[in-house]
Amino acid sequence: MADPNGFMSFPRKDAPKRPVDERLGDWREVYAALAPSERDTQVRKQATRCMDCGIPFCHSGSAGCPLGNLIPEWNDLVRRGDWELASERLHATNNFPEFTGKLCPAPCEAACVLAISPDSGGAVTIKRVEETIAEVSWDNNYVEARVSAVSSGKRVAVVGSGPAGLAAAQQLTRAGHEVTVFERDDRLGGLLRYGIPEFKMEKKVLDRRLAQLRAEGTKFVTGCEVGGSGLSVEELRASFDAVVLAVGALQGRDAPDIPGRDLKGVHLAMEHLVPANRECEGDGPTSISAAGKHVLVIGGGDTGADCYGTATRQGALSVTQLDQYPKPPDVRDDARSPWPVWPVVLRTYPAHEESGERRFAVAVSRFIGDSDGHVRLVELQKVRVERDPATGLRSVTPVSDDVEAIPADMVLLAIGFEGVEQMPLLDGLGLSLTKRGTLSCGSDWQTSAPGVFVCGDAHRGASLVVWAIAEGRSVANAVDAYLTGASDLPAPVHPTALPLAVV
Ligand SMILES: Cc1cc2nc3c(=O)[nH]c(=O)nc-3n(C[C@H](O)[C@H](O)[C@H](O)COP(=O)(O)OP(=O)(O)OC[C@H]3O[C@@H](n4cnc5c(N)ncnc54)[C@H](O)[C@@H]3O)c2cc1C
Ligand code: SF4
Repeated sequence: MADPNGFMSFPRKDAPKRPVDERLGDWREVYAALAPSERDTQVRKQATRCMDCGIPFCHSGSAGCPLGNLIPEWNDLVRRGDWELASERLHATNNFPEFTGKLCPAPCEAACVLAISPDSGGAVTIKRVEETIAEVSWDNNYVEARVSAVSSGKRVAVVGSGPAGLAAAQQLTRAGHEVTVFERDDRLGGLLRYGIPEFKMEKKVLDRRLAQLRAEGTKFVTGCEVGGSGLSVEELRASFDAVVLAVGALQGRDAPDIPGRDLKGVHLAMEHLVPANRECEGDGPTSISAAGKHVLVIGGGDTGADCYGTATRQGALSVTQLDQYPKPPDVRDDARSPWPVWPVVLRTYPAHEESGERRFAVAVSRFIGDSDGHVRLVELQKVRVERDPATGLRSVTPVSDDVEAIPADMVLLAIGFEGVEQMPLLDGLGLSLTKRGTLSCGSDWQTSAPGVFVCGDAHRGASLVVWAIAEGRSVANAVDAYLTGASDLPAPVHPTALPLAVV
């Protein structure tokens, strides 16, 4: 039984980070690698803070973890030092706990009962415990290839190798199907590879999981655009009994209406992040470096923070991140986002501690270029964002005529994604996008094309790694049932599942 007083005995302690000077000198992960014994001792104390609540909100799919991670169970196993069983219980619900342990914003922690009141000392460091169980599992060879003992004789194509496609592929391979993952990029991993920077998750972490999938029998084909030059829709349909679309929602949102958008030096975020990640992979220097430049990042989310940290490491003269919304509070405002929903609070990423400046309630009114047509200045105005309660439409209005000009030689638009890219594959399958730019499906994850299923960002819209894995696991259950009549594979989420929210 868990220690009900643990949270009073031990304060919350997050994973230590490397000193800023050190981490700006390389691309490695920002977190410090503690000696295993020190790490394990610290994390066991953190796991002891878990009360094993009668109703563990951390584990709930709607407010907490979409994967239904067995958080109190493995917290207690870690408290007792039984890392091997903790690993088994963690992998029972999550194919890739090191990805979520490193990358997840942790809705489980926001929903932890210890997050109700600051007097409790803060939520259990669930993410840190998860990441440590995963690392201990790799260190001690608890992670093994689980090769299926049976073969269904059925062939499944997974299109896209991001976390959704990889989770679906691993589940279906383990269920005995012959699975081939097709990826149009030259390397596997989707946004884990070319979106998320090395300093958030080193790619060797992805590569060791891919080796496990290969050893289990999943086949991979890279540099193959399905529906395009790689594999025609006719070949796809003729060669496979089922198809899973895990093609992401990679259509970047642009700002074509801002005067000066066409100037050189104004880029979509992914135009900056992809070549920066390629440089880390050894593909040579990026053509879009922030070195020696004043950089302006437009957009306050994850992607913006990744551009921010990347520009800092590339040697930017200055980095400024703009957000149209006012600065959120530092602590949860119970009227606006009561526990256990995801709190509207100021999110400070490690990149923000390193350098630069964030500005809130401002928007760009104009980009100004030099005689060579290169952006040099940006005009800003203070703004107010309002949402029409009737239509839900958002409007951004200047609060005065005052304009401020700030230097910017490089502008990165990190203002979100519009949905799935238009691609020949969709036309070939007779599929069209919803108004939200996503692919819809029935309660069995099947699109309107028979035998074609969808999961991850392509279905949900730009979201999170944890949701991609949860949808990949769930679609695998549906495909397995479609191919064999029934499935024992877990299905943690329904296609209509949404996080609990105040509307
Ligand atoms: C910069 C950035 C940072 C992020 N940081 C975080 C974070 O810290 N934490 C977090 O939880 N989430 C983060 N996210 C979100 C997260 O990365 C995504 O939600 C997740 O990767 C979605 O997984 P997916 O498998 O659905 O799609 P993706 O990862 O987008 O993968 C889709 C893949 O499909 C391939 N593909 C598309 N069409 C075809 C075709 N026709 N043929 C073959 N292949 C095709 C693409 O090349 C791509 O590799 C971030 C996103 C971005 C952009
Ligand atoms: S809500 Fe927090 S304290 Fe309760 S079981 Fe989950 S992690 Fe432990």
